[in-house]
Amino acid sequence: MKNILKPLAVLAAACAVTLGAQAQGYPAKDKPITIIVPFAAGGPTDRVARDLAEAMRKPLGGVSIVVDNAAGAGGSIGANKVAKAAADGYTLLVHHIGMATMPTLVRNIPFKVETDFEYLGAINDVPMTLIGRPSLEAGNYAALTKWINANKGKINLGNAGVGSASHLCGLLFQSAVKVDMTPVPYKGTGPAMTDLIGGQIDLMCDQTTNTTSQIEAKKVKAFAVTTPKRLTTPALKDLPTLNEEGLKGFNVTIWHGLYAPKGTPADIQKKLNDALKVALKDPDFVKKQEGLGAVVVADKRMEPAEHKKFVAAEIAKWSPIIKAAGVYAD
Ligand code: ASP
Repeated sequence: MKNILKPLAVLAAACAVTLGAQAQGYPAKDKPITIIVPFAAGGPTDRVARDLAEAMRKPLGGVSIVVDNAAGAGGSIGANKVAKAAADGYTLLVHHIGMATMPTLVRNIPFKVETDFEYLGAINDVPMTLIGRPSLEAGNYAALTKWINANKGKINLGNAGVGSASHLCGLLFQSAVKVDMTPVPYKGTGPAMTDLIGGQIDLMCDQTTNTTSQIEAKKVKAFAVTTPKRLTTPALKDLPTLNEEGLKGFNVTIWHGLYAPKGTPADIQKKLNDALKVALKDPDFVKKQEGLGAVVVADKRMEPAEHKKFVAAEIAKWSPIIKAAGVYAD
């Protein structure tokens, strides 16, 4: 027995040295870290990931951090890519509430949210806005309601694919107003926004980090916010909540988080979480996010275990809402 145990102990010690050495040299100066964004460039998830990459660069010793848009299937292609990537700290994922809603909203996703990732921490909370093409005759929510009822069967609603946040919000909106609309899926709400501005689609629900500047520039019509309280951002503060417009209990806030593949060494996870925490306190990052209606996480959700608890609570919260609204997708 002893003879078997001794080589095993030597092997274990060798592995520990290798793992330690791996983490010690991390991040290597000549090896970029890739953040996978599961949606198209130019949208809200892309924006937060790019701003975060910039803010995490310095605390990670000036390493280059690149953003790779692996868009499609409502965010599940990119998330799956990270779930299956090498667990070496060089491939990370920025994803949103879809991590919690996709498992209920979409029946078949090729990865397990709870067990295929290391949770590195939450990034921000972002309200959504209900917006419309600029040529829409309705100028406020009451007029929009009339327009919706007069145009049943003809309205289309952009989203970032089945399982995305815009999809979830759009489904809840249709269920609340009891009118079915035709979904028009894009690889992200960046490209969907271009079509909304161009008048190819009628309505969309999207994060304020993508809609604020378009609302400010009057390139789209804005009807309401999806949070229970009105917002304080100057360009958005006059928008009513859907709740006060009669859609009682309507409450959708999107959050984003940072993840690594399961099995990423603990000390690499710690380095990444430390860098994330520095980024979340970076005044430039905070200012950019706040200017777009987002709230940067400043509480215990900065800690991986707390973010994981939060995501589990979000899964538990959203599952019955999605089921009750009957808004599944295959
Ligand atoms: N806002 C998008 C969504 O609806 C995704 C994106 O392009 O960031 O999920």
